[in-house]
Amino acid sequence: MAILVVCEQRQGELKETSLEAMAAAVSVAGGEKVHALLIGSGIEGLAQAVARGGADEVVIADSPELTCYTYDLYRAVVLKAVGDISPSVVIAGHTSQGMDFFPGLAASAGMPMLSDCVKLSRSGDGIEAARQLYGGKIEVRYALPVPCVLTVRQGAFSSVMAGKEAEVRKMQVDLGSASARTEVTGYETPPKEDVDIEKAKIVVSVGRGIEKKENLPVFEELVSSIDGAVLAASRPVIDNGWLPKGRQVGVSGKTVRPKLYLALGISGAIQHLSGMSGSEFVVAVNRDKDAPIFKVADIGVVEDIFKIVPALVNEMKKR
Ligand SMILES: Cc1cc2nc3c(=O)[nH]c(=O)nc-3n(C[C@H](O)[C@H](O)[C@H](O)COP(=O)(O)OP(=O)(O)OC[C@H]3O[C@@H](n4cnc5c(N)ncnc54)[C@H](O)[C@@H]3O)c2cc1C
Repeated sequence: MAILVVCEQRQGELKETSLEAMAAAVSVAGGEKVHALLIGSGIEGLAQAVARGGADEVVIADSPELTCYTYDLYRAVVLKAVGDISPSVVIAGHTSQGMDFFPGLAASAGMPMLSDCVKLSRSGDGIEAARQLYGGKIEVRYALPVPCVLTVRQGAFSSVMAGKEAEVRKMQVDLGSASARTEVTGYETPPKEDVDIEKAKIVVSVGRGIEKKENLPVFEELVSSIDGAVLAASRPVIDNGWLPKGRQVGVSGKTVRPKLYLALGISGAIQHLSGMSGSEFVVAVNRDKDAPIFKVADIGVVEDIFKIVPALVNEMKKR
C-alpha cells in the first residue's frame, strides 16, 4: 500500500499547502511509501522541492492541456494515478482546488472522503481524523476505513524539510475521453500589498482589544520602532475596516511563521491560531488570564495593552 499526495502549483509556483499535505501524509505513512503527484506543464523543476517535503517518489503529470487547473482533467489524472498506485489514502490541501475536485474524485474512485482535517493518525487498519465544528469550539473524531480520500486544513500541519532525495517518474498522461468543461482565460494578480506579512520576521498583531481605529497609532509606532516588524491583525480588525485585508492572520487570511509573533488584545480563536501557531516565539498580551492565546504563547502578559504598548514604545525610544 501507499499514500498519494496531490500537490498544487499555480503558474509554476508550488503551494505551501502541498508541503503541509505531505507532512500530514508522512505522519500517517507508517511503513508505506509516500508518492507526490505534481500536475501541470513544464513543472519538472518543482520535483526536488516536493521531494524535500518527504516524498519517496514524485510522479509528474506534464502536458500542455494541464497547464491550468480544470476539474475534469485534473480529476482524470488523479484517478489514473490512483489506479496505478492503489493508495490507502489520497491527500490534498483543503484549498479552493482541493475543495473543488476531491469530492468528485472520491465519488469516482468509490472511496469515502473527509474534508478539512486538522489531525490525522493511524488507528488499527484505518485512519482516525479530526475536524472542527462550530468555529473550532468542538472537535469531532472520525474513524475511516482505507482506502479513503482526505483534504487537510491549511496551516494545521507544519511542513517538514526532510532533505531526502526521491525518485522522480514521469507519468504517461492519457486523458482518454476526459475533456475540460471549463477554460481558464487568464489570471488576475490582486493589487500588491504595501507589506507582505507572510515574509516578515517580526509580526505585531492587533485584535479587537484595540477597540477602535483611532487607537492604531500607538501600535504603528511600536512597529516602526522594531527593525523588520510589520503590523497584522485578527479578523474583526479587518472586518471593521481598520486595516486592509492583506494584514489578516488566520484561516481566512494569511498564514505567518515569523521568528516573533506579538499578539496584542487577541483572544486566540482557533481560526486565528491556525494562521500563526507555526511562529517560532509567541508573546501575548491580554487582560483576560483565561484567554486561549496564552495556550500557544511562550510568554504571556496579563495586562492592559494600553499600558504595555506605550511603555514598550518608550523603552524602544531609549535604544
Ligand atoms: C469561517 C470563519 C473564519 C474565520 N477566519 C478568521 C481569521 O482568518 N482570522 C481571525 O483572526 N479570525 C477569524 N475568524 C473569527 C474568529 O472566530 C474570532 O472571532 C476572531 O479571531 C476574534 O478576534 P479577536 O481575538 O481580535 O477578538 P475577540 O475574540 O473579541 O478578543 C479580543 C481580546 O482582547 C482582549 N482585550 C480587550 N481589551 C483589552 C485590553 N485593553 N488589553 C488587553 N487585552 C484586551 C480580550 O480579553 C479578548 O481576549 C473566523 C471565523 C469564522 C467563523
